[in-house]
Amino acid sequence: MQITVLAGGIGGSRFLRGLQRALEQHRPGSEITVIGNTGDDIWIHGLRVCPDLDTVMYTLGGGISAERGWGRENETFTVKDELAAYGVEPTWFGLGDRDIATHLIRTQSLQAGYTLSQVTQALCERWQPGVRLLPMSDDRAETHVVVDDPTGATAPDGTPLRTAIHFQEWWIRYRAGLPAHEFILVGVDTARPGPDVIAAISEADLVILPPSNPIVSVGTILQVPGIAEALRSTPAPVIGVSPIVGGAPVRGMADACLRTIGLETTAAAVAGHYGPRSEGGFLDVWLMDTADVDAVDAVTALGISARAVPTMMTDIDAAADLARECLAAGDSLARA
Ligand code: GDP
Ligand code: CA
Repeated sequence: MQITVLAGGIGGSRFLRGLQRALEQHRPGSEITVIGNTGDDIWIHGLRVCPDLDTVMYTLGGGISAERGWGRENETFTVKDELAAYGVEPTWFGLGDRDIATHLIRTQSLQAGYTLSQVTQALCERWQPGVRLLPMSDDRAETHVVVDDPTGATAPDGTPLRTAIHFQEWWIRYRAGLPAHEFILVGVDTARPGPDVIAAISEADLVILPPSNPIVSVGTILQVPGIAEALRSTPAPVIGVSPIVGGAPVRGMADACLRTIGLETTAAAVAGHYGPRSEGGFLDVWLMDTADVDAVDAVTALGISARAVPTMMTDIDAAADLARECLAAGDSLARA
């Protein structure tokens, strides 16, 4: 069975670990393709950093820091401290010493002319994540956030000036605390899906949107020209899992992202945002947490088959149970 998953960082990776476990037990020989978000990517101190691709690679390859959920285990931050001692900005981005090796190789390889897809594949030769990890695009397309100028600058009439900052600055430095007016994926107009990305969606037996951030992880992938269309037209069932539980994100600041585009922070609002396949969207099934069981009818009324199941991935077994629910939902559609 060929399964394709559109993933961000932590939520996506935790789900993928569970999916691997579930497939080993129930469908050995299945293959997972991950389409990874590269809208978070950033140049830091001359290094090309791909946070979501690395979170998937390290989590599935056994190198992730379990405590932080990003970056390497047993990490030290000597280089970061040394850079700060020179007074070099940015100081808010956590580049660990071990992690830097990954970014050095990536940067050198990109500068030698390899594509991000090729470089990712090469890095995965060390980590053996057990999935085919495809960047959503080999072209640079980075999420920026339009905010009121953080220095408080105003126009002559007193209205705050607006400026666009990189997503990482908004998310990490400001903890998504600066009210965002808009997200702009700079470069997306000319970005093309990475090689095999469209085929991975249209030729899959099952497509899963794991509980990743619906705006700045999955939403970013969907903006790459051609990807949303491929999802709408794939013959494979498309199953989504809500990252919003009981009216709040499980971790992170997805509520600030949803607010920015005028959506409520509810499981039902995210389902409506992806939309039912019957009405130009792409969701066949929406799995939301048992805490949101009261919203099942509202989502069903949108034309999406909805179910309430435990979605808290507290450990790998819980994530595997959630993945089994996705497989079962896919089976029921495939038979229908
Ligand atoms: P990021 O790129 O590291 O921010 O990670 P993702 O975009 O892949 O996932 C972030 C989203 O995962 C957040 O909106 C969280 O609410 C959601 N999330 C994290 N852990 C869980 C969980 O155990 N269950 C559910 N349902 N959602 C989760
Ligand atoms: Ca991310």
